[in-house]
Amino acid sequence: MISKGKIDSVREKQKDLCNICKFKLQEGKFHVDHIKPKSKGGDDGGDNLQLICIPCHSKKNEADGVHARYPKYTYTSVCDECGKVVGGYSQDHSNYLMQQHMLKHEREKKNNSKKQEKGKDVF
Ligand SMILES: [Zn+2]
Ligand SMILES: [Zn+2]
Repeated sequence: MISKGKIDSVREKQKDLCNICKFKLQEGKFHVDHIKPKSKGGDDGGDNLQLICIPCHSKKNEADGVHARYPKYTYTSVCDECGKVVGGYSQDHSNYLMQQHMLKHEREKKNNSKKQEKGKDVF
């Protein structure tokens, strides 16, 4: 069992933010996650625990190949660039996640233009 005290100390360590998307945790809207799944030998120690919001947990489960058991998000934003749908537990949350997603595109664009500049130097 994971005690309330252990959860509180993890929460403090994460400064009350989701460990994946860094959005503020909201009461009753986050899950305690085993960073290394118990099925893969992870334990209940504080170092193996993280608090993440429900949309992040469901994404992580998909990535881990675990079927998501959580309901689809009510609030979504669609990326103009790539059509990706980002879901959150509130409109604010999905807007926040979309901002993060757009930053990724900006970084990619910067990297691409850097590469092109390098290419020019070579020629
Ligand atoms: Zn999150
Ligand atoms: Zn996108």
